[in-house]
Amino acid sequence: MEHGSGIDGLMMKKKLVSITIPCYNEEAALQVIYPAIVEAMEPLEEKYEFELLLVNDGSKDGTLKQMKALAEQDSRVKYFSFSRNFGKEAAIYAGLSNAKGDYVVMMDADMQDPPALLPEMITKLETGEWDCVATRRVTRTGEGAIRSFGARMFYKIIRKMTNINIADGARDYQMMTRQMVDSVLALTEYNRFSKGIFEWVGYRKTWLEFENVERAAGETKWSFWKLVLYSLEGIINFSSFPLTVSSYLGFIMTLISFVAIIFIIVRKLMFGDPVDGWASTVCIVTFVGGIQLFCMGIMGQYMAKMYSEVKNRPRYIIQETNGEDVIYNK
Ligand code: UDP
Ligand code: MG
Repeated sequence: MEHGSGIDGLMMKKKLVSITIPCYNEEAALQVIYPAIVEAMEPLEEKYEFELLLVNDGSKDGTLKQMKALAEQDSRVKYFSFSRNFGKEAAIYAGLSNAKGDYVVMMDADMQDPPALLPEMITKLETGEWDCVATRRVTRTGEGAIRSFGARMFYKIIRKMTNINIADGARDYQMMTRQMVDSVLALTEYNRFSKGIFEWVGYRKTWLEFENVERAAGETKWSFWKLVLYSLEGIINFSSFPLTVSSYLGFIMTLISFVAIIFIIVRKLMFGDPVDGWASTVCIVTFVGGIQLFCMGIMGQYMAKMYSEVKNRPRYIIQETNGEDVIYNK
């Protein structure tokens, strides 16, 4: 029931903060992060209430059971359980689509995104100066040397190739206003590269920096190769630079062969014998063949992306939830 006047009317409506967490085999981590979130939000109780959206991305352990137990004891907890593993991007999308908050924040389940930062994020958004409070790791302690190097290279390359400026060490941990979330959701592409999408939509962003924290429980889901593939995805989703490279290559090869043709004709006219030169012919044939295949491969990558976009399948399928009964979402 709504009251326009009287005591209820005088009471300030609390703002809702949606906290969304993608979870893949995070049974143990959930037990750590839930109390940490409750603790972080408690001092703000007067003005803010929160909802916790847990997305189970087809976990193989007791994650769903754990979510149900939390939902049982706390009505602010909503779980959305996928029918299989759809990947972190899909889980983030599901969380954002179902969030009802005035402010929405997404974070990892493993405590690598410290919940203690939540109040500061809210305060920053509340000033009205910013639409998004993002976080950045300033150290990478506890991470392998190759991995750190790879990550740094990735940010360098993606900044060069796309016109999207993704900060080094940027986490997916960020809090956004309702308006920004709606803009993010308006990008309904199938191949989602969140780091790029959040930059692409624009808005005023401020950064919180923190020291790297190691996983509280469970283990990382990212192997080195998974990260390499993820980087390539990011580049292909947000840049057509590889296509530009292949057309330049084609142009350069044409120039070279033009010079070669003139050279061969002149040599034939001056010296007569054109048969000599088997080795160089084979080199040229294999070289050109290689470049052609390479460029076709690049084009193929973009076509594969187009193919999956055109099919327009749902980004995820929710098998079970205690929230609203959304079976799937396009
Ligand atoms: N995650 C997910 N689906 C996946 C892989 C990961 O929802 O297929 C979640 C995972 O549960 C965690 C977050 O994404 O909450 C980040 O994963 P992780 O901590 O393994 O990545 P790292 O911090 O090592 O980069
Ligand atoms: Mg992690």
